[in-house]
Amino acid sequence: MTSILVRGGTVVTVDPVHRVIEDGAVLLEDDLIAQVGRSFQVKPEKRAEFEIDTKGMAILPGLVDTHVHLAQALIRGCADDTSLIDWLQKFVWPLQGNFDSQDGKASAELCMLEMIKSGTTTFLESLLHTRYGFDGIAESIAVSGMRGVLSKTVMSLPGYGSEKSIMHPGMVEDGETCLREVETHFKRWNGKADGRIGVWYGARSLGGCTPQLYTQIAEGAARLRTGVTMHLSEVQEDVRYAKKEFGKLPAEFMDQVGLVGPKVVFAHGVWLTEGEWAILARKHASVAHCPSSNMKLSSGIAGVSQMIKAGVNVGLGCDGGPSNNCYDMIRELKTASLLQKVRTMDPLTMNATTVLEMATIKGARALGLENLIGSIEVGKKADLIVLNMKKPHLTPTFNPVSNIVYAAEGSDVETAIIDGKIIMENRVVKTLDEAKVIGVASGRASKLVERAGLSIT
Ligand SMILES: [Zn+2]
Repeated sequence: MTSILVRGGTVVTVDPVHRVIEDGAVLLEDDLIAQVGRSFQVKPEKRAEFEIDTKGMAILPGLVDTHVHLAQALIRGCADDTSLIDWLQKFVWPLQGNFDSQDGKASAELCMLEMIKSGTTTFLESLLHTRYGFDGIAESIAVSGMRGVLSKTVMSLPGYGSEKSIMHPGMVEDGETCLREVETHFKRWNGKADGRIGVWYGARSLGGCTPQLYTQIAEGAARLRTGVTMHLSEVQEDVRYAKKEFGKLPAEFMDQVGLVGPKVVFAHGVWLTEGEWAILARKHASVAHCPSSNMKLSSGIAGVSQMIKAGVNVGLGCDGGPSNNCYDMIRELKTASLLQKVRTMDPLTMNATTVLEMATIKGARALGLENLIGSIEVGKKADLIVLNMKKPHLTPTFNPVSNIVYAAEGSDVETAIIDGKIIMENRVVKTLDEAKVIGVASGRASKLVERAGLSIT
């Protein structure tokens, strides 16, 4: 049995009573959390194999990013200060439509390196097209040590909302093939790498699938007992399209085709109405709130604080390299809180505890992993991160949770442990070769831009 004793720091448990334990300790045995408490209370039966001194540091559950595009790390910053349709049509799609599986792998590894280095231990990838190379990316998750759910794109129409046939030909896939591929990937990868890999359906947004295909996705997910993720009501066009084509609001239509339920994550949900929140809450579906992406693409401001009051489970997401432009969940904590405060003109809304929950236990719930991850509790998986609080911008520490949400940076994360394995120690990632990953990604990014015939300034 491998045991790791993390001792001396402030343990921010995010358990049901939000215990924060000063001079705390967490004992990890193999892949599980065996003990949690004050340092003097946590006693391994025999000396722990590894001891990590965390005096002056904070110990948190690993963060859960509920909306990630792994394949967009390679095109970070390719379309800044651009309108959404131009952003997609002139830059993102032509670039992704020229990807090969080596680009897909290089991008995923770059993205995972960034996530590990900023405290994310689990993620939900929302749209993997076949050309990115599903197997190569799944292999990279296994190697990286991360916990990740990969959603294979399912689509049949090359449009976005009412804009028909605007998608780059390299991105277009056929519905039946997509459905078949999800099953193949599910059989090959779901539950692999000691249970760290999951495979879901990634339904393309409205205008990308026929109603019949959405029904087939719902049936497939029920049969495989797996999840579905989809961009929904990100922009007002989604609402216009759903009303025009189906005579319903987007979430009402999704409910009609059987796509609202547990292990269903709708990304963005900016334009969802009160009535739609009620549907999601009643059916236990989740929303992945992506504040930086919504602000940068001027999509609008999601009514997150009211959504939460209405009983919707809301997680947090970084989205992608061209829309955020980083995969740093700690930055997202502050952004999520401030955006709701300015929207509601109420400084009491979305306090630090609420946003930290979104990035941990609520993210875990969205993925159907609430019993395994998302908080530091005995019996859960040994996924945790350690933040160095001995920094000028984190001094003094009156309230560690507030300091983490409002003042910390991703680079304050020193240690990451996933499934009982030390994946990063003193900011050195042990599973991925940082210099190599960066070198390969830079080289591939320039070649990709050249191949797509673009010039990006
Ligand atoms: Zn997205």
